[in-house]
Amino acid sequence: MKISGETKVYGIFGHPVNHSFSPVMHNAAFEAAGLNCVYVAFDVSPEDLGASAGALRAMSIAGINVTVPHKESIIPFLDSISPEAELVGAVNTIINSGGVLKGYNTDVGGFLMALKEDLDCEPGGMRVTVLGAGGAARAVLTGLCMKGASEINVINRTVSKAQGLADEFHSSFEQIEINAYSLDDADSVRDCLAGAGLIVNCTSAGMKGVEPLALPFEALSKEAFVYDLVYNPVETELVKAARERGNNARTGLGMLLYQGAESFEIWTGTVAPVDVMKKALPL
Ligand code: NAP
Repeated sequence: MKISGETKVYGIFGHPVNHSFSPVMHNAAFEAAGLNCVYVAFDVSPEDLGASAGALRAMSIAGINVTVPHKESIIPFLDSISPEAELVGAVNTIINSGGVLKGYNTDVGGFLMALKEDLDCEPGGMRVTVLGAGGAARAVLTGLCMKGASEINVINRTVSKAQGLADEFHSSFEQIEINAYSLDDADSVRDCLAGAGLIVNCTSAGMKGVEPLALPFEALSKEAFVYDLVYNPVETELVKAARERGNNARTGLGMLLYQGAESFEIWTGTVAPVDVMKKALPL
């Protein structure tokens, strides 16, 4: 990569941010596409977020990804946000067009693309069980509602958070039945697994160093798709157990990849070199 006076700068705001895979993924993509662009990580503390958003304009930084803990708090500093970002209530991609900052949420498209490409699953008309009610679950619910899932059951350790999500999304998508359950409610968890065409894990359980959820896998329908947003380890206990039962199951590497590909396309207006980006991921 040759840096010149014309190199466009992209990057990511997070805190901490040094664990992010985005720099290697996007720099590989820029290089493969022959673009004079560079992508760097910016460790931005919460109290400096406003000044950092201002710096995007002042320093003509072309585009930025936003990660934990800034995905929601960045919104007041932007000029506009996309409909998906509005529904999720979070932004993970910003484009700077001559000082005008527009926010997007490419986790939504990344999740839907991963379902399609990795599982050959179209969630329209499906009964879906979502495990978790944090930031990632909001992006997943947005995608499922936009695609017209028929029923969504949200199960969470803290049931009040699941109920809040169910109420909020049902008020925007009245035709979709959205229910909330506690992870401790064994009968409901079993029923939700048995009745689902798609199960999506949006909890951090099963990540390297975090115990997986203890679920009654024997209740799973053989036809159910299983998508685990966790991508480290590359085969989670959930995916392993589902595959052993014959289910079509994948971990979250595809979502990570496709959200990055969508950001690249928003910034550059060119098709992302997905294979190159995938190869660059150190997983
Ligand atoms: P978050 O906002 O902190 O939410 C975490 C969720 O996990 C909450 O629902 C929490 O339940 C639940 N949880 C955490 N530890 C648990 C445990 N031991 N047992 C049961 N439930 C537990 O995090 P997030 O941003 O939504 O991220 C969630 C996961 O998705 C992370 O592993 C993240 O790496 C992954 N992710 C992947 C992608 C991708 O591209 N593949 C994108 C985004 C996120 P409570 O509400 O009860 O605390």
